[in-house]
Amino acid sequence: MKFSDIDSFFGSLQPGPFIIAGPCSAESEEQVLQTARALQEQGVPLFRAGIWKPRTRPGSFEGVGTQGLAWLKLAKQETGIQVSTEVATARHVEEALKYGIDVLWIGARTTVNPFAVQEIADALRGVQVPVMVKNPVNPDLALWIGALERMYQAGITDLAAIHRGFSSYQKTKYRNVPVWQISIELKARYQELPIIIDPSHIGGSRELIFPVAQKALDLGYNGVMIETHPNPDKALSDAAQQITPARLAEVVQQLQVRKSTY
Ligand code: PEP
Ligand code: MN
Repeated sequence: MKFSDIDSFFGSLQPGPFIIAGPCSAESEEQVLQTARALQEQGVPLFRAGIWKPRTRPGSFEGVGTQGLAWLKLAKQETGIQVSTEVATARHVEEALKYGIDVLWIGARTTVNPFAVQEIADALRGVQVPVMVKNPVNPDLALWIGALERMYQAGITDLAAIHRGFSSYQKTKYRNVPVWQISIELKARYQELPIIIDPSHIGGSRELIFPVAQKALDLGYNGVMIETHPNPDKALSDAAQQITPARLAEVVQQLQVRKSTY
């Protein structure tokens, strides 16, 4: 089985790094437009913003919901940047498609749940939209592959995987520990499947974004997803790990694509 159609969005990625950037959460129309404009000027091809936020505990900012889709649509119309958001239910899929969201992703807390993943897959049946599948929160390669397979079996062939690290009870320097071996095994099994690093959720801090992203590129990863916010300290979610568009430009400039070791 192959997971990516070569003529597809992900299948046609240039040899790395493909850049996905944008805020953890869409917060306001102005914040979305301001960020999208800055990123589009830098040549970032794909914008990200969470609309429905899966928060670990209740009482945190849960996302702006459907109104955020209108802001993404506007950002796309105004700047031409492609837009992506996280979906966790069939209703999210329907709403996102209604607003012309270009790429969808499945979050780590959803990948762990085969019922939820199947519901999303069923909602996507007959639709040609690229989907990125984040690893599950726990280091379980079969669960990650299972989610990709559910998409594939629903007819979604334009797939990519995102490594966002794995949660751990141990105290480590990472918010979510990268387990490189798991991603290497995934790539070895599905050579055509693009794999993207999410150093923002792995590191949980601005300082770790560059080293984690560079390590991934050294391992032959195809792209990076980096949380970018015009005013990171004031972000309503994941403030400590977001960087400004100006800082993103520096990070991207420093990243080197060395010879793939896959
Ligand atoms: C996110 O991308 O903002 C997010 C919630 O990520 P994850 O599913 O990796 O926790
Ligand atoms: Mn986030």
